[in-house]
Amino acid sequence: MPLLIEVDKKCCEVFPIIVPDSLLKTVNFFLFKRENSLSLIDAGWNNEDCWKALNLALRNNGFSLTDLTEIILTHHHIDHIGLVNRIVSQHPIPVYTSPLSIPRLKRDKDFLEMRIEFYQKLYQEMGCGETAKERIAYLKKAAFDNKGNTLQADIRSITSKSLFNLDIVEIAGHAPDQLAFWNQRESWLFAGDLLLEHISSNALVEPDEFGKRLPTLSQHIKSLQKCMELDVSLVYPGHGNLIKNPNDLIKKRLERTEAKCQRLIKLIKSGITTASDIAVTWYKNIYYEQFGLVMSEIIGHLDYLEMQGKIEKQLINGVWQFKVVS
Ligand SMILES: [Zn+2]
Repeated sequence: MPLLIEVDKKCCEVFPIIVPDSLLKTVNFFLFKRENSLSLIDAGWNNEDCWKALNLALRNNGFSLTDLTEIILTHHHIDHIGLVNRIVSQHPIPVYTSPLSIPRLKRDKDFLEMRIEFYQKLYQEMGCGETAKERIAYLKKAAFDNKGNTLQADIRSITSKSLFNLDIVEIAGHAPDQLAFWNQRESWLFAGDLLLEHISSNALVEPDEFGKRLPTLSQHIKSLQKCMELDVSLVYPGHGNLIKNPNDLIKKRLERTEAKCQRLIKLIKSGITTASDIAVTWYKNIYYEQFGLVMSEIIGHLDYLEMQGKIEKQLINGVWQFKVVS
């Protein structure tokens, strides 16, 4: 049963849609009601569970699908945009998102090809060799197989500072296009996957639109710090429980990142000098099982340490070798 959180009828109401998920605990998306509009913030997976949960939440609160006035997306990931095509095919409403989401949501051919080349070169230079081949083959296949996921909607770039009583906060890191929506009056933050209660959110390595690697971990840290400064009373996250007064959890996440950095420095000092060797030493079999996630984690932390001047790298025989700056 979707929860009902009713706060102040004069301002706005939120009706969370919480769908159990074996992998992610829950997939969450939200009906955000103001006087004359009803937004859907994110749109879950494209599956029957999410579709039924959306319709039930609408019905239980006296709405129907045609009452939705727009969809607003926190980021382009597949577990946040799933129902968009199904909704707009029955009820054409605009979809608001970061301008950075658009080549991803439109599955722009040039962009997807650039992205595959980016990972190919990256994994090669990080010393992943054969292990990367499977991942690259998967990315190539996904680029073809997932064509049907292209959003067929009136997509509108969010370029203003606020939208529908919500201030726009850029919170890149987990995804380059991730946005949070801040309702100052109630101190609510719709934060996508910036902060999750039950697991720490990954900063996934990604290229920018020109194929240059983004400093995703340092972006993620800045985004968490931004969230802390807002002094949020309630985070509406993309997965897991709603998070009341999140600052202690944010501090915990930031401390964990620092601890990981220290462990990385120790490994490099011990003579493990390539990103792939660090990944194998640290993650053992998980390196092979969750290659993309593990390499994101290691590369993100290495980039972050390099930006801080704590480590440096040298390309030797086509593979980056890292060393601690003494
Ligand atoms: Zn997610």
